[in-house]
Amino acid sequence: MRYPDFPVLITQPMMPLIQQGIESRFPFVHLNEQADRAGFLAKEGARFKGVVTGQGAASDDALFAALPNLRIVSSFGVGYDLVDARAAKARGIVVTNTPEVLTDEVADLAMGLLISTMRRLPQADQHVRKGLWLKGNFPLSDTLRGKTMGILGLGRIGKAIARRAEAFGLKLAYHGRSQQADMPYPYHASLVEMAKASDILMIIAPGGPSTRRIVDRAVMEALGPEGTLINVARGTLVDEPVMVEMLQSGALGAAGLDVFEDEPKVPEALFALENVVLLPHVGSASVHTRNLMGQLVVDNVIALAEGRPPLTPVPETPWPA
Ligand code: NDP
Repeated sequence: MRYPDFPVLITQPMMPLIQQGIESRFPFVHLNEQADRAGFLAKEGARFKGVVTGQGAASDDALFAALPNLRIVSSFGVGYDLVDARAAKARGIVVTNTPEVLTDEVADLAMGLLISTMRRLPQADQHVRKGLWLKGNFPLSDTLRGKTMGILGLGRIGKAIARRAEAFGLKLAYHGRSQQADMPYPYHASLVEMAKASDILMIIAPGGPSTRRIVDRAVMEALGPEGTLINVARGTLVDEPVMVEMLQSGALGAAGLDVFEDEPKVPEALFALENVVLLPHVGSASVHTRNLMGQLVVDNVIALAEGRPPLTPVPETPWPA
């Protein structure tokens, strides 16, 4: 089916499934291909009813103001920290994301990154590839045995990580803005206190202003020289320069990082460190899961175009409004 009355603005290059899904059904324009973006929006902005976006482009109130007939911002990914959902709500625009379909994939990756960091799997792989095994055994590593993992953000993904961590024999605790009555793990109202009580800090809370640099020097000092920090959330949650300095000095034991403050730029000081494992933001990045996420981006726009409720509105823009 085609929706000629529902033009869509695509703010950045998207995966082929999304581009084909939108381009085959809706009139569309790629905003990133416009040489004079402001001029284009001033002239054509009133046409658009949908925006399709992702982590590469911010959707703020200035953009919404330029699109007076906008009905939906369909954002790729469960994290929508670059979409100003409150401003959207004030203008009667619904924001959708792609929750649930990626939960297990990200939880798998988080556990894989944890084990890679503590058992030093990438370094062990290098030991074989570089022929170093012929000269001697790989050094013994840290262990998950007897360890406590504090989870910052016991949401959908945090709970899926907790289920996996239980199977690995880890003890668990969590921090969030509020205690969850139905959760069996100890709750810490203070993130520093949780870090003190933990060997591993698993970061999986949303990005955005409310969590910016929430993992600061005091938290990382509480985790300490024997501690392991795993970040699969957003780079903005951690004070990155302080983390780098503490990893260099050994004041923080080790880190497994899937996300960084200024992606794809990664602090080069990290490249030289043996106590880090670095991934290029691949938490949800399997073909299977990315296809499910992409389809959800398209299906949310189709729902609005057909006058149906959006499938996955974010909490700031509930439906019906
Ligand atoms: P949920 O909304 O289900 O869970 C978020 C959790 O974070 C909640 O338990 C919430 O608890 C807690 N939280 C929210 N705000 C704060 C705060 N200010 N301080 C402390 N805790 C807070 O989200 P998901 O589990 O689905 O996803 C979590 C995040 O993971 C996403 O926002 C995204 O940024 C990131 N992500 C990263 C991926 C990657 O590729 N590396 C892939 C997918 C997601 P409470 O309300 O009690 O505070």
